[in-house]
Amino acid sequence: MAHIKSRKAALRYSWHMTESMHLDWQDGQPVSRRFGDVYFSRASGIEEARHVFLHHNHLEERWRALPARARFVIGETGFGTGLNFLCAWQLWNECAPDAILHYVSIEKYPLTADELAQTLSLWPQLGPWRDALLAQYRDLPPGWHRFVFDGRVTLTIAVGDIAEVMPQLDMQADAWFLDGFAPARNPEMWSANTLDAIAHHSHTGSTFATYTAAGEVRRGLQAAGFIVERVKGHGSKREMLRGTLQRAPIPARKAAWYRRPSTLQHTDHRAIVIGGGLAGTSAAASLAARAWHVTLIERHATLAAEASGNPQGILYTRLATQPTPLRSLVVSGYCHTLRLLRRGVLSNDDWRLCGLLQLASDEDETARQRKLLEQNFSSSLFRTVNSIEASALSGVQLARGGLYFPDGGWVDPAALCRAFSNDPRITLRLETEALRLQRVGSEWEVHGANASIASAPVVIIAGARDTTNFEATQYLPLKTIRGQLSLLPQTPDSAQLRTIVCGEGYVAPARDGVHTLGATHKFRDTAIDIRVEEHRENISMLNTLAPALYEVLHAAVRDADTLHGRAGIRVSTPDYLPIVGPLVDAAAFANVYGDLRHDATLDLDTPAPWLPGLYVSTGHGSRGLITAPLAGEILASYIGKEPAPLCAQVMQAIHPSRFLLRGLIRGET
Ligand code: SAM
Repeated sequence: MAHIKSRKAALRYSWHMTESMHLDWQDGQPVSRRFGDVYFSRASGIEEARHVFLHHNHLEERWRALPARARFVIGETGFGTGLNFLCAWQLWNECAPDAILHYVSIEKYPLTADELAQTLSLWPQLGPWRDALLAQYRDLPPGWHRFVFDGRVTLTIAVGDIAEVMPQLDMQADAWFLDGFAPARNPEMWSANTLDAIAHHSHTGSTFATYTAAGEVRRGLQAAGFIVERVKGHGSKREMLRGTLQRAPIPARKAAWYRRPSTLQHTDHRAIVIGGGLAGTSAAASLAARAWHVTLIERHATLAAEASGNPQGILYTRLATQPTPLRSLVVSGYCHTLRLLRRGVLSNDDWRLCGLLQLASDEDETARQRKLLEQNFSSSLFRTVNSIEASALSGVQLARGGLYFPDGGWVDPAALCRAFSNDPRITLRLETEALRLQRVGSEWEVHGANASIASAPVVIIAGARDTTNFEATQYLPLKTIRGQLSLLPQTPDSAQLRTIVCGEGYVAPARDGVHTLGATHKFRDTAIDIRVEEHRENISMLNTLAPALYEVLHAAVRDADTLHGRAGIRVSTPDYLPIVGPLVDAAAFANVYGDLRHDATLDLDTPAPWLPGLYVSTGHGSRGLITAPLAGEILASYIGKEPAPLCAQVMQAIHPSRFLLRGLIRGET
């Protein structure tokens, strides 16, 4: 086989940013090329941020008065360089060490990682906060991006136009930083609709501050319900605006079945999670990070014993060519898992962002990839490569090019499950099978075969296909798909493989001398025996995918009977989206919303019949590494009444009640 000896050839073709995309530098300060405006005051950006946004939202006083475990939400229009965020985070650490800060920022033109790093180097005094942000920040594709720092500070950047993002927000901010460029240069950021939406995402007493004193902004905020004050601006600036919302407006209508369960305010922070795979352990981790005490019940003797137990899970996202909720979810989830890994949750042996090639294996796939490339994805997510580049990147001869995901790679899912559950607030109950739930008083009691196992006000069911064994989740239309991997011993030549190569299946660079090759798809087959014919399928897939690799692995592939492998059952759904969110009483739901059978357009207002404190995370299919960690944050946001990590459209698309609703509308139930 003609090995490609180095990556140099590949790099010649690779995308490199040689100049700033968004910034011009004038006198050592960044200026937006698009808007011709400064990101912050030329005199002292940091002092201005502190004066305008922190001081005039009275954050120091408000934060010092917060009780332990309190939550504070900042909304910002324009993330820009992240300076305001870092200043807020620094002050938060000083004033509110035991509370939780959610910072939600809207940004249409996110700076590249290089631009952010260069700009933030202007303030060495923000060093530790800047480094923590930069460790996770990479060029952000459009969509919602959740950054988790030390459990007490969470940043959500919604990348998109303010007019599109605002209606998708599901939060009430305590304070707003209004920081679009000058109203005269960027009127959309200050439109009456935007200012009205800010009031709608506030509560009575929420505050705002902005450096501008423009008359139309002042009048717009007053019209939206804020009491507005003109106060002294920073430095030589005469005036700026600050204010307080006098009375929260009547909330915008939202379908009753997708409103958040509003009945519960948790004061007893104990939860039970059923299922020790990625969905369960990530939910446990997200709650434990918020100081909840979690009992994690797993029927096997180890975590990740079922679908999450493959030796090398592939961190990979096959993107739809249309902007569907599924595509938004996988882009957000993929970036989220990458940030988690960069935060250092796993030891270096348990993951490798070695890059991933998705070969254009036939005409259909070539057309699909062409359509994707026509869209506005940042080249840091993926780029197109020809067969020469693909061969150079992978280290093995490939007959076709395709898409290259530079951050794709593999992760040991079991190691990730162990890392998620490695928190003193999480108690593992292994070899314990949860079979039934019973509501007793204000708690859920989880029963095993003979006795009650535990009880708590919150229970999350994350048991993959066993999820439907419980009465509350019986109606969920889960589909099972058997998948078998083949484990091929590395040869001296196959050791050249540097990236994951995907087509119909995938092959990964060897880990501890073994390549993972897979996986088969067998619908409605729930046996997990290892089958020689499925090894043969995998081997034949390899022969089509990368004949040169097939050749050098010949000794291993010749004798399928002797190969080792692993079979697991993926659990998917009819719409291929996972199921994440709060649960209702299905029979009561059909009664309450039964009129939808006759008229699907009815705007019914009766609150959904929630099963208080009961949630589910399942149906992650073969994308568990991508969607399950983010699902933990989604559930924590429901449980803690925090800002959602995803836009409302995606939150609804993964909501458990969607199937009940569709059943009613189609007259099936
Ligand atoms: N708060 C930032 C900081 O701490 O560096 C500075 C924000 S800068 C003055 C304004 C930001 O608003 C820019 O990053 C710009 O890309 C963003 N922006 C402008 N128009 C927008 C729009 N229509 N929707 C969302 N963001 C927009």
